[in-house]
Amino acid sequence: MHYFQYKDKELFCEDVSIAEIAEKVGTPFYLYSHGTLVRHYHAFDRAFGTAPHIVCYSVKANSNIGVLKTFINEGSGLDIVSGGELYRALQAGAPPEKVVFSGVGKSNEEIEYAIKTGILMFNVESSQELRRINAAAERLGTMARVSIRVNPDVDPKTHPYISTGLKKNKFGIEADKAIGEYVYARDNLKNLDIIGIDTHIGSQITETAPFSDALKKTKGLVNKLRGEGINIEYLDVGGGLGITYDKEEPPYPSKYGKAIIAETKDMDVTLIFEPGRVIVGNAGILVSKVLYTKTASNKNFIIVDAAMNDLARPSLYGSYHAIWPVNKDKTGEITADVVGPVCESGDFFAKDRELPLFSSGDLIAVMSVGAYGFAMSSNYNSRCRAAEVMVLRDKWEVIRRRESFEDIIRGESMPDFIEEAK
Ligand SMILES: *Cc1c(COP(=O)(O)O)cnc(C)c1O
Repeated sequence: MHYFQYKDKELFCEDVSIAEIAEKVGTPFYLYSHGTLVRHYHAFDRAFGTAPHIVCYSVKANSNIGVLKTFINEGSGLDIVSGGELYRALQAGAPPEKVVFSGVGKSNEEIEYAIKTGILMFNVESSQELRRINAAAERLGTMARVSIRVNPDVDPKTHPYISTGLKKNKFGIEADKAIGEYVYARDNLKNLDIIGIDTHIGSQITETAPFSDALKKTKGLVNKLRGEGINIEYLDVGGGLGITYDKEEPPYPSKYGKAIIAETKDMDVTLIFEPGRVIVGNAGILVSKVLYTKTASNKNFIIVDAAMNDLARPSLYGSYHAIWPVNKDKTGEITADVVGPVCESGDFFAKDRELPLFSSGDLIAVMSVGAYGFAMSSNYNSRCRAAEVMVLRDKWEVIRRRESFEDIIRGESMPDFIEEAK
């Protein structure tokens, strides 16, 4: 459920006309519905009822500080994967005691920054990282709280680029090696406070079975660790619940919640969740304008002013995004590719799609781009990154201004030796 709906023939975000925003901020722009963000956050949080749990929204899905602040105000913690995301989290006012730090390649600087900040815990992904965090805590004269991310070797049945819990993936420590790491840390790494276990098996997962399978394996491990006197207080289930882009039928958070609780109810742990896509995915759209239409011998193209640099998912994963007209006043249909201005044939939003008979100047809405949309955007082809706008009922505000040409070359320089060598 989201709040992008037609009133009469015109697409609205909550109570605001999208065409009106386009008039004022230009195109392309990302548009987020505050009401949808909040609704999705609570639907997810409620799914675990009274079970002790912390929802740590996964910053990488959509890291705009306006979006982060929205969730923080609802009581959310944050899951981060870099020092930059920690900086964003703090700027948005996140409580450090609800921040968890995941990722396979944390640098010394990032580790020290997070220890000094006093985050809840690191999700540690390798034996070397465990030692490095211990050394950093020792240097800083303090303790660092850690979980080990265990790779449970389950198939999440999703796109190979976003599956993370298989043995062949780079993430986590294999289950049978993890115990050894915990015991080693307990005996030798005196600046670590070992408090949890973590597993995150992938993204856009559309059934509950892979989550249940991963939890069954993790549960066995927790029992063994407790037998070793290692007190596991937190079980981080990760994120990964999918959404409907096209015809997928992922479980509702309530069903997902039931499946998780069924596996964990007798475990005496605080659960941590790191949802990204399921909360923000359908709460955002990309609004773009048709620049040209053209017909080749057997193909129609609709050329719009947004491109793969704004939204990479179709090019990267071949993923489907619905495309809606902002004004439903068209008569007639066309089967066409929707493409952007970037000089790559991979620059498309839709292929052979049945669409209204769009013409130059029409506005289109690319749906379900709240997650991994702006967050994955770039300046490729020296295109200014799009504006981001948030709506709350009848109010709206730009939460990231459109980049300028000055932004495009910020930080670059022409070294003197080029002139000297001329
Ligand atoms: C990407 C990621 C998430 C969020 O995944 P979604 O599919 O967006 O829910 C959660 N945890 C970790 C460690 C991640 O890397």
